[in-house]
Amino acid sequence: MPTSLPLLPGSLFNGRPAVLGVLGGGQLGRMFVHAAQTLGYETVVLDPDPASPAGLVSHRQIQADYGDPSALAELQACAQAITTEFENVPAHALATLAHQRPVAPAAEAVAIAQDRVLEKAHFVRSAKSSGVAPAPYAVITSEADLSQVPADLLPGILKTARLGYDGKGQARVSSREELAAAWRAAGSVVCVLEKLLPLAMECSVIVARGRDGQVACLPVQRNLHRNGILAVTEVYEGCLPESLTSRAQEATRQIANDLQYVGVLCVEFFMLQDGSLIVNEMAPRPHNSGHYSVDACDCSQFDLQVRTLAGLPLPAPRQHSAAIMLNLLGDLWFDGAGNARAVPWEQVLALPGAHLHLYGKLEARHGRKMGHLTMTGASAEEVRSCALQAAALLGIEAF
Ligand code: ATP
Ligand code: MG
Repeated sequence: MPTSLPLLPGSLFNGRPAVLGVLGGGQLGRMFVHAAQTLGYETVVLDPDPASPAGLVSHRQIQADYGDPSALAELQACAQAITTEFENVPAHALATLAHQRPVAPAAEAVAIAQDRVLEKAHFVRSAKSSGVAPAPYAVITSEADLSQVPADLLPGILKTARLGYDGKGQARVSSREELAAAWRAAGSVVCVLEKLLPLAMECSVIVARGRDGQVACLPVQRNLHRNGILAVTEVYEGCLPESLTSRAQEATRQIANDLQYVGVLCVEFFMLQDGSLIVNEMAPRPHNSGHYSVDACDCSQFDLQVRTLAGLPLPAPRQHSAAIMLNLLGDLWFDGAGNARAVPWEQVLALPGAHLHLYGKLEARHGRKMGHLTMTGASAEEVRSCALQAAALLGIEAF
């Protein structure tokens, strides 16, 4: 039977609580499951890994590949509504599920976010209304395109159109020769060459958009990346210029509206040294830079994901505490010589406002996201002081 919305908390199907399904079993799925369960929903996770972070805490896991037709049929049979936590889930899988069930975000929006060429074209369209454009870029699909690239895109960053994350699938190039070599090294796949811009800072915005077009917006996050991976997110009054935050929020709303988006969407921005704002990329799901909202806001990005999926109201979220999030990469589990070390959790947890989230991953590896620590405080000074103490204890470079 097709699901009718809203799918209210506490509603029963064949005598059981309504089930929300999620494609992907990583940490984002795990936190979605936590938020869904808080409202009394049951959950089902589709992920091939028998020890996936979300599968470990879900009522049920279907252990199969994201595109497996029989697994998708099973998911559709046992979940009343379905979302994704994994950006590279095959868009056709979402389209198939949407025949029978509410699915958010929609396959069309995910397909655009999965492909930098389509994504940038969408940003260019939205920039007509918002005035916030992407970095100058060129699409490279063939050897012939390499010689056509305008000279002012160099030095630049070559990014594969698909499957890039945490700086993977990217190469900095400063000449045509380097560009050609990098494109061939990337397997001669479709790429985007972006002009290398002088960044002053980076930020991101998370919005949730309902089926009725209503939009709820979280505060703008300031992000620090190290080695292409998000390291620190800071969110408190004064951490970003106000003129910038309102423009970034407006541009994000525009991007979501132009996609007729339903669900949680994160858009990343660069602020350049001359104060201008550039849109970088989007993620059709909750985002690492929004994890602070679990501990510092009265409605987190995962609560918003549940609400948009189930068709529930979207009141404006309120940040009640200044917050700094530190990503906990597997590197912290090793000392300088590469030997396993004990992380000083007792000292970290003794700091006021420390909220530790570990994702249940059994093996620490360099660069692997094992968890995050959100520090909350009454003021920017307080939270910065505690976050810097936590960073020092953990061996994370000061920021
Ligand atoms: P994510 O993990 O966020 O999906 P990604 O691998 O898709 O990352 P981007 O967000 O495109 O990659 O780039 C990673 C980082 O590289 C950015 O956060 C920024 O620090 C830097 N960067 C990317 N593009 C540019 C640019 N055009 N000019 C300067 N720096 C850039
Ligand atoms: Mg990025």
